[in-house]
Amino acid sequence: MSESGLKDMAELVSLCKRRGIVFPSSEIYGGINACWDYGPLGVEIKKAVKDRWWKAMTDRADVEGVDAAILMHPRTWEASGHVEGFVDPLVDCKTCKGRFRADKMDVTPCVQKPSKMASACDGEKGEPRLFNLMFKTHMGPVEESAAVVYLRPETAQGIFVNFLNVQQTMRQKVPFGIAQIGKAFRNEITPGNFIFRTREFEQMEMQFFVEPGTDMEWFEKWREIRFQWHLDNGLRREKIRWHAHGPGELAHYAKAAFDIEYEFPFGWQEFEGIHNRSDFDLRRHQEFSGKRMEYIDEIKKTRYLPFVVETSAGCDRSVLVLLAEAFRKGVAEGEERVYLKLHPEIAPYKVGIFPLMKKPELTEYADKIFDGLHKKYRCTYDDGGSIGKRYRRQDEIGTPYGVTIDYDTLSNHTVTVRDRDSMAQERISAEKIADYVGEKIKNWRA
Ligand code: ATP
Repeated sequence: MSESGLKDMAELVSLCKRRGIVFPSSEIYGGINACWDYGPLGVEIKKAVKDRWWKAMTDRADVEGVDAAILMHPRTWEASGHVEGFVDPLVDCKTCKGRFRADKMDVTPCVQKPSKMASACDGEKGEPRLFNLMFKTHMGPVEESAAVVYLRPETAQGIFVNFLNVQQTMRQKVPFGIAQIGKAFRNEITPGNFIFRTREFEQMEMQFFVEPGTDMEWFEKWREIRFQWHLDNGLRREKIRWHAHGPGELAHYAKAAFDIEYEFPFGWQEFEGIHNRSDFDLRRHQEFSGKRMEYIDEIKKTRYLPFVVETSAGCDRSVLVLLAEAFRKGVAEGEERVYLKLHPEIAPYKVGIFPLMKKPELTEYADKIFDGLHKKYRCTYDDGGSIGKRYRRQDEIGTPYGVTIDYDTLSNHTVTVRDRDSMAQERISAEKIADYVGEKIKNWRA
């Protein structure tokens, strides 16, 4: 069977809507720009990604987890540099009334003539002006400037301000890290490309505190670990690459930075950053709060501000990468077949259970298999329509294995297991399904 990957994002957006993965937010009111809701299957995929990340991070003795508040003391954002520096250059077009990020005009279509990019259309553009991306709100009932708080634009600062709380309560010694998954908000000028760039999103971040001088060594270690994690999730090597930040690209806090990029239908784009943040954040918080943020090394009898190596991944963007990577379209048995080649541990259901016909003797048998297997692997049950149609439905949501119960099952207690990727079918003993599926999941390769 010949097959191709994702060529057009619209195909993925439509599949996600049709199959309960991602819906436009507030759709009955016409939607709200670049906001999305995860449906029943999307939430399972996203949860699996978060669980895998959390496990990979916190199963180590040298990483602790936290869950910090979204609203933080406003001084946090002065210290971090966000009040002053978290800005993008905004360009207004007087002709089409579009608003563009000056540095993205080569890749953002003109509003009036989408066939042309904003940088190449004839619209009359104003001078770029700086626009702060932080969402502001007010704490308490009075909307006065003293009550201004921000929705955090990154999860990292919740970790920096808790550095000593975690180190001391958990009796950790440098080097160690703190991991967190949580929402972040950015008032992006040009959100888009489905869940790639939104104004509300989730980050999976880990800040690793190290002794100055050992930072580049740890930076390299974490680069390797994070790249491998994405390969283990089923990304093909040729679809991801490194992008090193040049001197002009480095963020104000960074000593070194590499992005991991994925080749989307709209080009190579970042979905995770590994940054050497030096001691910038702890130093600034020490300065702005007046509290010492130094680590005391009892053995070496020294005190210092640790350097930070950060791994910062977008959760929604990682989900998009996995969906884009999994999307396959081809022809099988003379018909178009679309399937999601998701890692079985990330697929919303691991097994689909299908009684060949809606006859009580078959459905009762299938119910029993479902009840037994569902305790171990998330299963779905489908007894509607032809078996071919049922396979197609499961293919589209990435269910890796399908178990069919037919009349032979009743006499010899065997079932047919169909593999989503190869479409190969195997007859196995019904009592061996759980072990069989377990082995298959363990040995699955992209
Ligand atoms: P970009 O250049 O795409 O704006 P960034 O360099 O500002 O991203 P970071 O601040 O390093 O991104 O954030 C770390 C990760 O958070 C990114 O790699 C991405 O996966 C995710 N992320 C950042 N902004 C958004 C957004 N608006 N929507 C969804 N995910 C985002």
